[in-house]
Amino acid sequence: MKVVTRFAPSPTGHLHIGGGRTAIFCWLLARHFGGEFRLRIEDTDATRSRQEYTDSILASMKWLGLDWDGELTYQSKRLDVYNSYIDRLLETGHAYWCDCTPEEVEAMREVARAKGEKPRYNGKCRNRGLTAGPGRVVRLRVPDEGRISFNDMVKGPISVDVSELDDMVLRRTDGMPTYNMAVVVDDHEMGVTHVIRGDDHVSNTPKQILLYQALGFDIPTFGHVPMICGPDHQKLSKRHGARAVVEYQKDGLLPQALVNYLVRLGWSHGDQEIFSLDELVQLFDGKNLNSAPAAFDPDKLKWLNAHYLRNTPQDKLAAMVRPFLEELGYSVDEQKIQALLPMYMERASDLAALAQALTVYFKPAEELVIEDKAMKALNEDGRHQLSVLGGLIDQLPEFTAEAIDALLHEYVEKNSLKFKQVGPPLRSALIGLAGGPSVHDIMVGLGKDESLKRIKRAAELAF
Ligand code: GLU
Repeated sequence: MKVVTRFAPSPTGHLHIGGGRTAIFCWLLARHFGGEFRLRIEDTDATRSRQEYTDSILASMKWLGLDWDGELTYQSKRLDVYNSYIDRLLETGHAYWCDCTPEEVEAMREVARAKGEKPRYNGKCRNRGLTAGPGRVVRLRVPDEGRISFNDMVKGPISVDVSELDDMVLRRTDGMPTYNMAVVVDDHEMGVTHVIRGDDHVSNTPKQILLYQALGFDIPTFGHVPMICGPDHQKLSKRHGARAVVEYQKDGLLPQALVNYLVRLGWSHGDQEIFSLDELVQLFDGKNLNSAPAAFDPDKLKWLNAHYLRNTPQDKLAAMVRPFLEELGYSVDEQKIQALLPMYMERASDLAALAQALTVYFKPAEELVIEDKAMKALNEDGRHQLSVLGGLIDQLPEFTAEAIDALLHEYVEKNSLKFKQVGPPLRSALIGLAGGPSVHDIMVGLGKDESLKRIKRAAELAF
């Protein structure tokens, strides 16, 4: 049997990390079994669905590396298909027209509640033989008795008595299908074998199984993954730093880091934390999905990101950093960025921070701001050392890290100084910061002319 999975976002917002994780699981399962991963936009809610969100979701899928098979499906373009299946249910007696108003239905629910029963529609129109007409909906005729049971990939066996289920609406008064109706038709028509989704949908599954049965469709395997919660085990919210995938992208996360992080947040393979995408495809078979809610841990995500950043080939990393520098107003070529990366990539936790750290190399000397802490090193002695060193550096026959380092050490020794009398003032002069890479590396990064310009400028600062 070919495994077919699908991701079915509603375009009512950007792709959030919870949805992103579901998409990754579906993608991995399909790729692991050499099957198909389909993407469907559930845009039947015309008031809340927006094209810009569809575009954003697709962009996030691409950024995460989740390619899909076949045509992208839009539910809004399939209304006729849903209606033909609704007609079939009406013809076979599995569905009926109902003209009860929302107020009447609410009153029925109230009566059930008052009796301590589950609030639901009381079946008033079941046998009235109504036909299509304005203000009418189509409802599913739930069997009088029986149980709906399924073995959830994540939660294990689940069983619900049909008496718990409502004669749900399949077609609204405006002719639109409801979520459960459209999903079942689509999952069937797309040949979906495994439905993996968030466990906010687990109560829909028995209802959907009723529809599969009424339509005579094969029932897929279901897996409901628990929600991601905050480190305090409360529902994940902005306060926990939980956001849309696109926001993590803007913050400078690497897609591999986010994928690795989200997969581990709900799935495990022993104690292993770091997985390449190929490894995930090889290992992810839908087992070992955790049924307990997973707690979001921003520090771990940061740690993973730093790991991936350090291990990205420098030419690729330079290409990734370039747009971040552009965003900060620096249009620089990738070769230049690449030359500076070795100094910073070991320490940076994200692309935005990395780009920010590099900006000091691209500012004109006059615009370099020297931070307060760095100013301390530019005291009278510091400025004196700078003016002497400027001359010596200028005369260096070759401007390499080794030559600069040798010159500085020789200078310190000859003049019985401590290195901290030259290193910190140079660093302050060169990049305006009290901390950072070795001064000889910084100078090579800046180039001779720019280094000398900055040293001279700092040496001449008046206090
Ligand atoms: N469109 C639904 C949602 O975004 C998902 C439906 C499903 O996966 O069955 O929550």
